[in-house]
Amino acid sequence: MTPTRLPFIACCAILTLGTLACSDSSGAAEPADPVSGASTQPMAFVGVHVLTMTDGNPILEDRTVIIEGGRITDIGPAGTTPVPDEATTIDGAGRWLLPGLAEMHAHLPGPDTPDERIEDILFLYLANGVTTIRSMQGAPNHPELREATASGQILGPTIFSASPSLSGTSAPDPETAEGLVRRHAAAGYDLLKLHPGLSPETYDRIVEVAREEGITWAGHVSPEVGLERSLQTGKSTIDHLDGYVESSASPEVRARAQAGEPVPLSEVVASATPERIAELAEMTRDAGTWNVPTMYLWENFYNDVPAEELSALPEMRYATPRELEQWTAQKENRVFVELLEGWRTDGAMGADDVDAETARALIDLRREILAALNTADAGLLMGTDSPQMFMVPGFAVHHEIRVMAQAGVPSSTILESGSRRVAEYAASELGYDEDFGHVSPGARADLILVDANPLEALGALRDPAGVMVRGHWLAREELQRRLDEISERAGG
Ligand SMILES: [Zn+2]
Repeated sequence: MTPTRLPFIACCAILTLGTLACSDSSGAAEPADPVSGASTQPMAFVGVHVLTMTDGNPILEDRTVIIEGGRITDIGPAGTTPVPDEATTIDGAGRWLLPGLAEMHAHLPGPDTPDERIEDILFLYLANGVTTIRSMQGAPNHPELREATASGQILGPTIFSASPSLSGTSAPDPETAEGLVRRHAAAGYDLLKLHPGLSPETYDRIVEVAREEGITWAGHVSPEVGLERSLQTGKSTIDHLDGYVESSASPEVRARAQAGEPVPLSEVVASATPERIAELAEMTRDAGTWNVPTMYLWENFYNDVPAEELSALPEMRYATPRELEQWTAQKENRVFVELLEGWRTDGAMGADDVDAETARALIDLRREILAALNTADAGLLMGTDSPQMFMVPGFAVHHEIRVMAQAGVPSSTILESGSRRVAEYAASELGYDEDFGHVSPGARADLILVDANPLEALGALRDPAGVMVRGHWLAREELQRRLDEISERAGG
């Protein structure tokens, strides 16, 4: 539709967990079905403040939280809640317990990556409190990895696995697209990943066949399809705020672009108005489409922080020298690299055309768009596109949280976007149980214990006192010990 497209980021089964235990009116919990791959050791957090992330985000002070079979079985006042004799107790005094977070735009390594490195990457997520990830570009080993972490064979986050990409390259016409949709659905992927380059006819066929197959579609917005059509057709997530910048332009600029005239990005950005941005945000809310904004990636791409400074971030010790080399080249040349399929794009309009002033204006506009989506109460899901450019798995989420806060999104909304909202998305779009992303009886025991109230200090999430995944407890010392080993293996 428009030649003013932005350089895009080429990025990118179900294990039914049984019914939830629920408290009866007397407060006693029915026995919960154990989570597959759960720790069999009962645990008890004692004297902890609980950030439930249930409706209204109530905080329960000074509680004991019991974990059995990988699920939360009871939450009660610290003084009166019985702790099973065999339970391991964790001192929660003066600490906050909240649901594990999610990375909703992750990229898992393909089958050529050594198993040990794959397991290290999965652990990097856990070490950062990330207990759920949505892998956004499928490879044949991903459904297996999903089963391996779900069954406890590998200690790692719960994985939602997107299909290999449907793009202008892989799906040049509707017939090819139809074949791919049917094949990916049959292969057991959780959702379809879209890249740019799809014609409107091909996109429409994807929508039609995906509905038949009962699988949702998500990812990039092809410029020829556009944001509004993506919203109208029920796309489940839009990633990277694709299409919002172009759609925010004035009617005059949009008309010129639609007529095929190349419009410089600086003009597109300068013509955006708060009214139009608010209108798009409301459209998004009404459509029920979720956004995975990946703010940090874009800021990292366009800001003037030198590669040298990014290379010196503490978490770079978990990256391999090859990754650091690739990321430096990406940053210095402003090139998005598809890390998984080996194909790359220099951006349809040429990223080098963006001068420093336009880059700053673009960063500001993206923040405005995010703030408007929040104001309109459109669905936000936390995601980064790690491991693109200097974004180490797990660690990148904390950069994303910082940027979301800088854009004016309230802490409670940020935390919801990585927890409760992820469960809503997984239930409504992927067919999973909504039994995670909140701290309540019956929920899966995916938890983070932190030393300060994250609603007041989001930075506390960077250094958890411990992380629990399916009832497996990883205390700070254990996390650090394993991180040190990963660093040594990475050789970064
Ligand atoms: Zn991606």
